[in-house]
Amino acid sequence: MAVLPVVVVADNNPVLTTKASHVPKVDGQIRRLMEDMIETMRANHGVGLAAPQIGISLRVIVLEVDGRVHQLANPELVRCQGEQIGYEGCLSVPGLVGEVARCERVVAKGLNRNGKEIRVKGDDLLARAIQHEIDHLDGVLFTTKVTPGTLREASLDEVADDVAGEVTI
Ligand code: ZN
Repeated sequence: MAVLPVVVVADNNPVLTTKASHVPKVDGQIRRLMEDMIETMRANHGVGLAAPQIGISLRVIVLEVDGRVHQLANPELVRCQGEQIGYEGCLSVPGLVGEVARCERVVAKGLNRNGKEIRVKGDDLLARAIQHEIDHLDGVLFTTKVTPGTLREASLDEVADDVAGEVTI
């Protein structure tokens, strides 16, 4: 496994704003990508990571919430219910947080690391992270979805300490 560099907005890399490609087959290369993404997410104290964030335009996301790791290729939301409003940040947009309205509960389907179709059900933080990561696969950054006037600078400590429920995904 390897920790890979995270692409940030300041890099002006179009990968962050490009719709990522469907994964044709979950093979050894995709499994290795998932492992590298988990290691990179952990090294950066994120709760989720999408492949475009490490410069790979493929529909792959990883998440780690409440000690549970989820790895999905070709994830799609099949249910999005309720509403939660909270602050979030992004490893690709360092130093900024903003308030984003998201569904409170979601169900996503996708392929797991063995290529089997699975469903991941989540609420609260996991639901927020799933929506944030799937947005990355469509080239959408949270900064385009913030409640107007709420985008602000966050100190590294603030993000690391998860103050006020802010999360970096
Ligand atoms: Zn992000």
